[in-house]
Formats: sequence, C-alpha cells, structure tokens
Amino acid sequence: MEDCIFCKIIDGKIPATVVYEDDRVIAFRDIQPVAPVHVLIVPKQHIQSIREINENNGSCLIDIHMAANKVAEKLGIWDKGYRLINNCGADAGQTVLHLHYHLIGGMAMGPKII
Ligand code: 5GP
Ligand code: ZN
Repeated sequence: MEDCIFCKIIDGKIPATVVYEDDRVIAFRDIQPVAPVHVLIVPKQHIQSIREINENNGSCLIDIHMAANKVAEKLGIWDKGYRLINNCGADAGQTVLHLHYHLIGGMAMGPKII
C-alpha cells in the first residue's frame, strides 16, 4: 500500500525502532509512547483492521500474539504482564489503517474500561 505509514516502515522507507521482526510480523516502538514499554505489533501483510480478518489471513493473529510474548520477554515485562490493545475503526480511535496491536507495559495500569 503506497501511502500506508506502517507499510513504509516494513519496507524500510521510514525509520523505526524495531524490537522484533520475522518474516510475517514486525514490532517497533510507538512514536508517542503512553507507557515505559509501548510497542506496535504489525503484520507485514497490509490488512486494514480486524474487520478484514478472514479464514485466509487470520493466522497473522497467532503470529502477532507469539511476537507479543517474545517482545515482552525481550523487554523484561513478561513476568509482570502487559496489555495488548487493538483499536478497530473510527469509534475505537484507529488512526493508522494497517492492522496493529499496542503492547503496553512496564507499569501498573490504571482503571480498565473492560
Ligand atoms: P491507533 O491510533 O491507530 O490505534 O495507533 C496508531 C499508533 O501509531 C499511535 O499510537 C501513533 O503514535 C503511532 N504512530 C503513528 N505514526 C507513527 C510512526 O511514523 N512511527 C511510529 N513508530 N509510530 C507511529
Ligand atoms: Zn500498510
């Protein structure tokens, strides 16, 4: 996708602080962190949001969760735990239209919406 910022990061056209990468997933620090650890976990395939997940591309969700564990372990927050957040669509506040999960940790979290 030509004008997708996360595709540009995946292609190396925009710099990012990459903390994990394999052939299907990339994880890099969020540019505006809200916690000591705030990493975006992104499938390399351009999928707009969770709404576009289907039986053909759904295995990327397993890849993302396995990458989340690896990132948490690498960054030293696996033991204490972390939060994985996906914003899907306008009402949820999704601003980048390339599927991603926020991995947030390194502090005790505040109140939960759910
Ligand atoms: P969303 O609001 O779609 O759930 O999350 C998008 C996230 O991408 C935001 O937390 C924002 O800070 C992050 N972001 C937007 N542009 C860039 C960028 O160019 N580089 C990095 N590392 N993060 C970005
Ligand atoms: Zn993209």
